[in-house]
Amino acid sequence: MPEQLSNSPSRGLHIITWGCQMNVYDSARMADVLRPLGYSPVDLPDNADMIILNTCHIRERAAEKVFSELGRLRQIREARKLEGKETLIAVAGCVAQAEGKELLARAPYVDLVLGPQTYHRLPEMVARIARAGGSVIDTDFPVESKFDLLPEEAAPQNEGNLTAFLTIQEGCDKFCSFCVVPYTRGAETSRPVASILAEAERLVASGVKEITLLGQNVNAFHGDWNGGTASLPELASLLHEKIPALKRLRYITSHPRDMEQALIDAHRDNPIFMPYLHLPVQSGSDKVLKAMNRGHTADEYREIISRLRQARPDIALTSDFIVGHPGETDEDFEATMQLVRDVRFASAYSFKYSQRPGTPAAGQPFQVAEDVKEKRLAALQALLREQQDAFNASLVGTVQDVLVTGLGRKPGQLNGRSPYLQPVHFEGDPSQIGQIVKVRITAPFTNSLGGHLHEQEGTAI
Ligand code: SAM
Ligand code: SF4
Repeated sequence: MPEQLSNSPSRGLHIITWGCQMNVYDSARMADVLRPLGYSPVDLPDNADMIILNTCHIRERAAEKVFSELGRLRQIREARKLEGKETLIAVAGCVAQAEGKELLARAPYVDLVLGPQTYHRLPEMVARIARAGGSVIDTDFPVESKFDLLPEEAAPQNEGNLTAFLTIQEGCDKFCSFCVVPYTRGAETSRPVASILAEAERLVASGVKEITLLGQNVNAFHGDWNGGTASLPELASLLHEKIPALKRLRYITSHPRDMEQALIDAHRDNPIFMPYLHLPVQSGSDKVLKAMNRGHTADEYREIISRLRQARPDIALTSDFIVGHPGETDEDFEATMQLVRDVRFASAYSFKYSQRPGTPAAGQPFQVAEDVKEKRLAALQALLREQQDAFNASLVGTVQDVLVTGLGRKPGQLNGRSPYLQPVHFEGDPSQIGQIVKVRITAPFTNSLGGHLHEQEGTAI
């Protein structure tokens, strides 16, 4: 389901977000950029003077989904027009970047088409439409960095403003055979450290306790700092030293090739790093990994995992998998299953390979039949589900630090987040919201945990 930003209006803004955390972050920043123009988020598109669809192009039928949503929005616009109200419709994100011109040709009623690199120019685009009418398309990869031009606000996005995303790196130069990101998000760039520290300070001052650093290749980060550059573990040390009220740090998404020893060591040495890492492997077959242009073998991945576990024995690992990449045989798929059995994941995302126009894999022969992909995906997901259940069950009886994020659904219940990113439900006092408390885990569910406050050790912050 798309996520929706909400609040109460002056000029109503409704943003519908598909895709990754980076899109969620971008949507919040688009709201920041439009705030000085009098736009505030509203819950329903029917009340919005401007509607933005922030789109994702990573898998199939992305454009079709956008057109179907646009059809609905067009009707809303017509209905509002009868009441004498104008509505601007904008399409942002990776579908806009990849298919902007086709989009305007097929849906000429769209007012604005903008890529992920140009949303700092939104006010200018809105002004241009107000002056001259018509549609505006801006899918450049501009010379100026949007991060230098965005307002210094950065609204936290999640869970009672206690957790937030912070983009530190964008784009990708790795060109995996199947992936559109290098084409839609452009070349890899890192944000300067000073600007990241300033945004993190603002977030923490507003109550945020846990930050997730975002990037398509976040562990390739090398942001300007002190006349040179800082790596991800160096940035994490700076965040820890300079912002003591920041209690927890995560980062997503990493590439195995950039999993340097210094970063692995930081999982042992920097106390704000959560014992959790999402490290996509995609396949366990060396032949498929090579065809995917991933730049590492299955054993190299196993070796990284073993070094991570040496450094931080309690680390929980999650991953991404693609089944049915062109040329994948039963034997290759079995190698993926074996890698999963060897590594044991706490959870994982898995997808059927989807042919993305313009990517190298799309033109390769030996595309795998749909029913074969489906069978492989079902087998992989069953194994991953077993491992997720086993991981959750292994926590029963342990005491976990839980960041209390809000009230639960039942009276007297609180919700929180474990170090392993699982939702945790337990009975407690609302005054504990915002604290990190000790919870003894008593009940494992597939996607969450139940527990009781651990009285002796009390609250941690
Ligand atoms: N940068 C990350 C990495 O190197 O693994 C991945 C970022 S991508 C936005 C998120 C996930 O979408 C990928 O890890 C991959 O599993 C999946 N994905 C990307 N392109 C895909 C495709 N054409 N078909 C199926 N899944 C795809
Ligand atoms: Fe896409 Fe990730 Fe590969 Fe870059 S490293 S091309 S973002 S899958």
